[in-house]
Amino acid sequence: MLANKTALVTGSTSGIGLGIAKALARQGANIVLNGFGDAEGPKAEIAALGVKVAYHGADMSKPPEIEDMMAFAAKTFGQVDILVNNAGIQHVARVENFPVERWDAIIAINLTSAFHASRLALPAMLKSNWGRIINVASVHGLVGSAEKSAYVAAKHGIVGLTKVTALENATTGVTCNAICPGWVLTPLVQKQVHAKAAAQGISNAEATRQLLGEKEPSMQFTTPEELGDLAVFFCSPAGNNVRGVAWNMDGGWAAQ
Ligand code: NAD
Repeated sequence: MLANKTALVTGSTSGIGLGIAKALARQGANIVLNGFGDAEGPKAEIAALGVKVAYHGADMSKPPEIEDMMAFAAKTFGQVDILVNNAGIQHVARVENFPVERWDAIIAINLTSAFHASRLALPAMLKSNWGRIINVASVHGLVGSAEKSAYVAAKHGIVGLTKVTALENATTGVTCNAICPGWVLTPLVQKQVHAKAAAQGISNAEATRQLLGEKEPSMQFTTPEELGDLAVFFCSPAGNNVRGVAWNMDGGWAAQ
């Protein structure tokens, strides 16, 4: 379905980003990976799906590096047809204790980077009158949780950015939508499980049960594969007129 299309997925060396990149690659899209850590493993996983893959290590908190990445993607594959703004980090602390540097980093990576990548991707998408911008927000783009001020602010912000980007392009073939996962067992959440287990002197299994029990009625993690399939839906012909939604896959979290 996505042969001859190129998808750039930020923060795709692990977790949800890698899951979405693989789902788009299974549909035939060439992939530009981004993120920190080992890129060779993820590159090999994508190449094994029979598509072309490239990697750019831009730090998404640095606008000049984002500009360089977007130029690299256009030079390598012609243009970016599908942009998945996924890179994200977390820090947990009460507002009065929140390190200012962590606040700035979370806003830069989880919110401002999506603005930069989108503004740079849109002209080519509009020229070809087809494009998909998929913002990986969170259920925290819809509701709050204590001790996650920067994350919740950034995720509510990216849901707003999603709506405006969708509206500005509503008469074109370019759509913009957000995905709002509940808990997904990636390194980002594994750190929160370990912190909870250490703080309370309980096992990781008990910490996991408590984590799900507090928020997620299904008591199940959403998987990167499920989120990848939602991204594929947004890219399918059935998604042509889906514009500006924030679609939660959260086991009922936001329904409470
Ligand atoms: P993860 O830690 O597994 O992956 C994050 C990715 O972002 C990695 O590839 C990492 O290298 C990259 N990254 C981090 N800082 C970066 C930077 N400055 N520049 C470039 N890349 C950077 O986390 P994940 O859980 O897969 O999170 C992916 C997205 O999903 C995030 O936006 C996160 O907020 C969101 N999300 C996660 C969950 C969850 O439960 N895991 C729930 C809702 C939303």
